[in-house]
Amino acid sequence: MLNPKTTHREFFGVPGSLAVMTGTTAVLYVWYFSCNEHNGCQLPMSASQWSHILASAANYRAYLSLEALTYYTMWWLWLALLYFIMPGITLKGIKLRDGTQLAYPMNGLRSFFFTAAVWAFVYKKIGTAPFLWIADHYFQLVASAWIFSTLQALFVYLYSFRAPSVETPGKDIVMLAHAGNSGNPIYDFFIGRELNPRIGSFDFKFFNELRPGIMGWVLLNTSFAIKQHTVYGSVSNSMWLAIVPQIAYCIDTLVFEDKVLTTMDITTDGFGWMLSFGDLTWVPSMYSLQARYLAFHPVHHSTWFTVFVAVFGLASFLVFRLSNSEKNAFRTNPNDPALKHLKYITTESGSKLLVSGWWGMARHINYTGDWMFGLAQCMATGFDTPMTYFFSAYFLVLLLHRNYRDECKCRDKYKKDWIRYCELVPYLFIPFVI
Ligand code: NDP
Repeated sequence: MLNPKTTHREFFGVPGSLAVMTGTTAVLYVWYFSCNEHNGCQLPMSASQWSHILASAANYRAYLSLEALTYYTMWWLWLALLYFIMPGITLKGIKLRDGTQLAYPMNGLRSFFFTAAVWAFVYKKIGTAPFLWIADHYFQLVASAWIFSTLQALFVYLYSFRAPSVETPGKDIVMLAHAGNSGNPIYDFFIGRELNPRIGSFDFKFFNELRPGIMGWVLLNTSFAIKQHTVYGSVSNSMWLAIVPQIAYCIDTLVFEDKVLTTMDITTDGFGWMLSFGDLTWVPSMYSLQARYLAFHPVHHSTWFTVFVAVFGLASFLVFRLSNSEKNAFRTNPNDPALKHLKYITTESGSKLLVSGWWGMARHINYTGDWMFGLAQCMATGFDTPMTYFFSAYFLVLLLHRNYRDECKCRDKYKKDWIRYCELVPYLFIPFVI
């Protein structure tokens, strides 16, 4: 059966889905209203702070701006246009359950550089005004991204009913995600009903994954640095410490755009509210928190601290990048002479699992590097408030949950070979510790 009914609901089913949708939206509110240029940046502890946040939330209409929504929609459409017209090779994704393979245009990096060139042109011709507008209308843009991502999720959910999902003679059927076919509209809307919603060659999930949100994050960071320069006359070393690694991370993601085709998001998860909101709203708004904070609270670090954070960040990035690249290179061509020093086990499924090099140190050393890299960017904000460390706390939960899902998947796929692999590589994240 191509689209079996979903029997196991993740995130505790409907109550959990509702909790995630309201909870993540509430976090956006709480973090904005507790950490801004008017109120400073304090963890809300007192009743008066909470009543201020609740009053702001009740006054949400003040943050709904047609102008911001129009600009946001133009941003999305601009990148969608580049998706079609930017040159780039086309790669095929993994083989789907029905034996087909979808084609994806690898032009994200070119789209980014072209867009960045347009920003540079705008800066030269108009000056800082558009960037200051972005920094000053941050929350209106976040609200616009929320509306857009929710409407997009609603659209793809309804669109998934355009054709039958059970085999029907003479008719094309819609390929559903394993987790998105519960029949409950709230849960399926949240988790993503269709595996790869597409209009023609436009793939919603692949497009949203790395473009409007990731590039929007770079644009927000740039705008906050310009804002700080405009207000305080210079860009602080803390701002550079926060945004340079983040921009490098975004570019790195786009350089390795093809690797996204084998991630869980593309191969397994449906495209619903969770990914639509995560890609378009959560990533740019919460990941740019450090730069937003520094725009109104410039911190000046000593040279020693700056060097320490920069080296710590660079070392973490190398763990993340080298471990991911080692696995990618091995999976692409295990016979590459450059990899002949690596040891591996061959599983009954035919796949090979590395047991030396980075992957012999810990089963998810790449997550460790990624998390430490994020921590370095939080450290760039100094130690005046715990609020700017939100990313580290959230990312830890995300990676632990992702690790749990991946371990379950691999245990299921490799069975006794996975047990053998775990004996050979007993540590999860940090060698000799955990
Ligand atoms: P991984 O890149 O760790 O891939 C896990 C898969 O790799 C497993 O399912 C298995 O797949 C294969 N594998 C596991 N062990 C081995 C081994 N020893 N040898 C060879 N193959 C192995 O997972 P993700 O896709 O979750 O993460 C990729 C990167 O993206 C990470 O660095 C992560 O930190 C980052 N990330 C960042 C996020 C962000 O918001 N910034 C969000 C999510 C991820 P198979 O079935 O093919 O064997």
